[in-house]
Amino acid sequence: MISTSKTKIIATLGPSSKDKNIIEKMIRNGARGFRINFSHGDQAQWSDFVNTVRMLEQSMETPLALIGDLQGPNIRLGNLPQQSVFIKKGMIYEVNLSQTSDDVNKIPVPTKEFFDKLVIGDTIQVGDNMLSLKVTEKKENVVYTEALSSGEIKSRMSIRIKDKDIDVPYMTSKDKQDLLFAVKNNFSHIMISFVRTEKDVLCVKNTLKEVTEDPPRILAKIETRSAVEHLEEIVRASDGVVVARGDLGKVFPLEYLPELQSRIVSVARRRGKPVYIATQLLTSMVDSPIPTRSEVVDVYVSVKEGVDGVMLTNETSIGKYPAETVEWAKRIIDNAERNPEVNVYPEVEDLSWRFGRGIIELSTLLESPIIIYSLTGKAMRISSAYRPRYPLFIGSPNWSVLRDCAILYGCIPIHIDSNEYEEGLEKLKARLKEMEMLKEGTLTISSYKFTHLDKQKITIEKI
Ligand code: PGA
Ligand code: MN
Repeated sequence: MISTSKTKIIATLGPSSKDKNIIEKMIRNGARGFRINFSHGDQAQWSDFVNTVRMLEQSMETPLALIGDLQGPNIRLGNLPQQSVFIKKGMIYEVNLSQTSDDVNKIPVPTKEFFDKLVIGDTIQVGDNMLSLKVTEKKENVVYTEALSSGEIKSRMSIRIKDKDIDVPYMTSKDKQDLLFAVKNNFSHIMISFVRTEKDVLCVKNTLKEVTEDPPRILAKIETRSAVEHLEEIVRASDGVVVARGDLGKVFPLEYLPELQSRIVSVARRRGKPVYIATQLLTSMVDSPIPTRSEVVDVYVSVKEGVDGVMLTNETSIGKYPAETVEWAKRIIDNAERNPEVNVYPEVEDLSWRFGRGIIELSTLLESPIIIYSLTGKAMRISSAYRPRYPLFIGSPNWSVLRDCAILYGCIPIHIDSNEYEEGLEKLKARLKEMEMLKEGTLTISSYKFTHLDKQKITIEKI
């Protein structure tokens, strides 16, 4: 199943997309990465997703990225005495350090650091629609608050302090278990939520080093104030970033989002790191088979910013039209890609990077596809970062390279078995002709580096 769209689509899996035929349709419609959000469900459910995706990867001959999303230091309510508790504007509520409450006027929060950070005058926000409670009195591990709005709260809802980040260790024991699950199941990527500084990224990377020699790639979700303040260092430390507009829109005024999105994309692009836009891209499609005008424009604009991909969240996990949403994302992407943009080049001062840029410029000048045989994935990551205008075919015997490639801009990954570059390239060319991806007479550029020699070979040839 080849897709020639350069901007990739990642779909979040969930109750709406657990059937094999739905996932199959999503792949047919252009999805190349699947995210499992470890904040929901359990290992048994995740294993079902993993098995289905891996089975389809083989039967449809399409490398697919599997992305595990760590919950991270997201502070949540403890257990409430009822399914939901109604909070009434103007009433006083006690918020205390505990796992469980048996009183509807007492709200449990099981995280000590939360109370350490609170001062009188702070606003506590609960859940997605940000029910607000103002702190009027503070004692040790207890605060008294006045509700500034009315609404329902439920056990385990996320909770934060307006304009403050809370210093809890990055990984909880749950995150560690989830990370091990991802490693055991050969996930190609880990998304890390609520990253605050580079330290959080390194914490996950170090934990991975202890458990595997072929670690998944780390994509940092930018969704806290601190992450925006430490953007450069987080981009440097991670293998890519996600503009997580859902939570970003809770910690910044919504009208700041367009600028934040452009800034995050531009920092990542300059460093040559993959970048993805997530959340509420086609959100009306949770209930409707057709997106709104403004959503179509939003996806189009994201593609024009030169991202590696877009990530669908609720649309594909709990929506009514998961396969249709992917189809719409692809339609918009293909339209946006019809007129190539002026390229923004990564500013990486390194010989292999300048070489990569040379190859991409050559491809643009000659109007030629590029054919790369890659054992480690380095060449393809560099080439993709320079945003090829023509297809970038990547052959590799290594599934982790192919799956990484599946969500990188412009890359078309194809599994080829060879441990030798020259032979690998020949097999890849033969396979491309057989699949009618390359026509007789097409001018192509192929290249590889002799690993143990200071020599790089470029071949320009008519097929
Ligand atoms: P989430 O992340 O779906 O895990 O919250 C995406 C976002 O915050 O935009
Ligand atoms: Mn989020």
